[in-house]
Amino acid sequence: ARTPIMAGNWKMNLDHLEANQLVQKLAWSLGDLDHDYGKVEVAVIPPFTDLRTVQTVVDSEGLKIKYGAQDVSTHDNGAYTGEISTDMLVKLGCTYVVVGHSERREYHGESNELIGAKAKKALEAGLTPIVCCGEALEVRKEGRQVEYVVGQIDAMFAHLSGKDVASSVIAYEPIWAIGTGEVATPEDAQEVCGAIRRRIAELYDDSVADAVRIQYGGSVKSSNVVEIMAQPDVDGALVGGASLKADEFAKIVTYYK
Ligand code: 13P
Repeated sequence: ARTPIMAGNWKMNLDHLEANQLVQKLAWSLGDLDHDYGKVEVAVIPPFTDLRTVQTVVDSEGLKIKYGAQDVSTHDNGAYTGEISTDMLVKLGCTYVVVGHSERREYHGESNELIGAKAKKALEAGLTPIVCCGEALEVRKEGRQVEYVVGQIDAMFAHLSGKDVASSVIAYEPIWAIGTGEVATPEDAQEVCGAIRRRIAELYDDSVADAVRIQYGGSVKSSNVVEIMAQPDVDGALVGGASLKADEFAKIVTYYK
């Protein structure tokens, strides 16, 4: 059985002092709710500048909260101004790295091919990529969301092995549901997450499809997480805005209570 994973993508929010506070508060809130970390994995995805601070608080207090970065370079090192390597993230104790978020696709022109290369680079370094996909509103209006997202999966995973994919996380985030308050219905989320898993079975085999964890993302809150998590092919959530408040994110994580 797949262990659900709740990840908070902070995006470009919170400086390192605020990060320290939020992680501490999150640990307290989860403690108050008697969260079982073996039952649902918890991760935060802060800006790069917060990672060292998050590492320090997690290590010094022995927290079971995992963390990762919002992006990574495909290069090892060298003259790539502004970029961050997988080795740097590993040294900071990261478990995860988000690749191909729709905001990076839109504002930084990232292609499926580049995102696939980032995922591969992450896996080679021992990081778990959270590989994002999802359709825009126009695609959804035309009813083409399944073929569109399956096309993204095909292109991103072209150079990844079954073993690679089995240990990755896929995040399905319909763009029209991100930061809009408009959450996909549980049926919408299941339709695409189910199609992703079937495609993985076709590209690899059933054991890979059974292993890969698929998150839904887009306006997830404590008030809608239970019905989304009830869907058979949804194994977690990638949470934006609602992950910036410790008590709210802790409620999302403990949806099973
Ligand atoms: P919101 O939860 O703010 O809609 O953001 C979703 C998201 O993009 C997470 O990566």
